[in-house]
Amino acid sequence: MSSKRKKTIFDELKALLGSRVRADDMELQLYGKDSSVLSGVPSTVCFPLDAEEVQGIVNICNRFQRPFIARGSGTGLAGGAVPVGNPVIISTAKMNKILDIDLEDRIAWVEPGVLNLDLSKALKEFGFHFAPDPSSQQVCSIGGNVANNSGGPHCLAYGVTTSHVLAAEVVLPNAEIVTLGGIDPEPTGYDLRGLFIGSEGTMGIATKIAVRLTPNPPDVRTLLLDFADVSDGALAVSAIINAGIIPAALEMMDHNAIGMIEAFVHAGYPVEAAAVLLVELDGLSGAVEAAVETIKDVAKIHNAGSVRIAKDETERALLWKGRKNAFGAVARIKPDYYLHDTVVPRSKLVEVLNQVYQAADKYDLIAINVFHAGDGNLHPILAYDAREPGILERVHSAGDAIIKASMDAGGVLSGEHGIGLEKRDFMHLLFSAHDMFTQDLIREAFDPQGLANPLKILPSGSRCSDSFKQHVPEGVWV
Ligand SMILES: Cc1cc2nc3c(=O)[nH]c(=O)nc-3n(C[C@H](O)[C@H](O)[C@H](O)COP(=O)(O)OP(=O)(O)OC[C@H]3O[C@@H](n4cnc5c(N)ncnc54)[C@H](O)[C@@H]3O)c2cc1C
Repeated sequence: MSSKRKKTIFDELKALLGSRVRADDMELQLYGKDSSVLSGVPSTVCFPLDAEEVQGIVNICNRFQRPFIARGSGTGLAGGAVPVGNPVIISTAKMNKILDIDLEDRIAWVEPGVLNLDLSKALKEFGFHFAPDPSSQQVCSIGGNVANNSGGPHCLAYGVTTSHVLAAEVVLPNAEIVTLGGIDPEPTGYDLRGLFIGSEGTMGIATKIAVRLTPNPPDVRTLLLDFADVSDGALAVSAIINAGIIPAALEMMDHNAIGMIEAFVHAGYPVEAAAVLLVELDGLSGAVEAAVETIKDVAKIHNAGSVRIAKDETERALLWKGRKNAFGAVARIKPDYYLHDTVVPRSKLVEVLNQVYQAADKYDLIAINVFHAGDGNLHPILAYDAREPGILERVHSAGDAIIKASMDAGGVLSGEHGIGLEKRDFMHLLFSAHDMFTQDLIREAFDPQGLANPLKILPSGSRCSDSFKQHVPEGVWV
């Protein structure tokens, strides 16, 4: 008697993708983590080549009622791509083509797996770039940038990802393929493109993205201001903007950051300073020149030790190399770090920075501050050694204190890293139950079955959490 074995979800995915579906131990371990401290275990990892294959995977997941999670490069810091509920991971790593560059309309269509810096490199010969420049830009994907509405040092003047994405082709959670937004100057109807950007994979999977091309500025000047007191540096940030200047970038690094970066990159940062401001000005030469003079005046009023102006492109690149390698440099102090991402009003920077140092002292940790000061986006790094018993509890307690201090100052939970799993249970600090219920309804309109990246963003107790408890194996963090 022949008994026909029932096809598993793996069999069906294998039939669709062949060797581009994997479930080896090694692969499952690798795709169980992103760049946060969280981890989980997926059931399967898929590597589709195009929207139709993504659609096929989502169809199969629907039939088996299995959650699915889009994944770009896994550099997310909030656990957005971390598996919960035995999901299928849909990696966009092989969807990495720049499909079209339209210089006349200043638009490029790209696949989601294109790396952020690769796009700007490809545009360089035409005199353009993609403006959002996360510090992870060498490795993070445009799809991940869209899902997290990512920012970067130059987003102060240019705006974060949502200002640079015109349209996205999306495989919705019911497997329908739609285009949200459009390349017309004013697409009609609700701005579903805007709703999708920043939705962290909970409203579908972007399979093609139309990005705006930004012309490279005619003149750029990069300055490094150093201060003997962190408060003077923080006050200078507000003073620069109050003087009517919106620098292209306005970044702050504190004493601990300067020391570790200098030892790693040798960027010529002044190691004795309590803080430095890295300021970039761009635009027409006359305006840039005038802004440099204004910044020199502000620096003097706020007791800056010196104002160094990069004399050429090599020096400018070196100053930026220091800033962009800051997170890698932490390894010189401790093997592990936890990075927060709150935003506070610029006027509260001094107050909240002091509370960051107090929280680190209280829990006997090292705090390092490297952040987008111009838009008040703090990035306190708590450096630690995970081998030390009990250390993670102290790191989390200090982190909780930092989040609370930021909220008390009128801030928000995330400037650019997203909510993911990491900040999900802090959402009540910012939103009422009614606010969250309303957000849940919007999510439900896109994903009635709750299969797209479940248990992320909205806290336990929301519709998505409840319907997915059944999928969550014992002991998995919810
Ligand atoms: C050293 C370091 C520095 C960083 N600096 C910055 C910074 O300056 N600014 C900043 O904003 N971030 C920064 N980040 C965080 C991170 O790099 C960004 O959030 C980035 O945009 C994530 O891209 P990714 O491709 O790695 O996405 P992943 O980590 O793979 O995924 C992130 C989220 O996007 C979803 N997703 C991915 N692809 C798609 C898709 N095609 N469709 C729908 N959803 C999708 C995932 O489900 C997940 O929820 C930094 C990270 C590191 C490690």
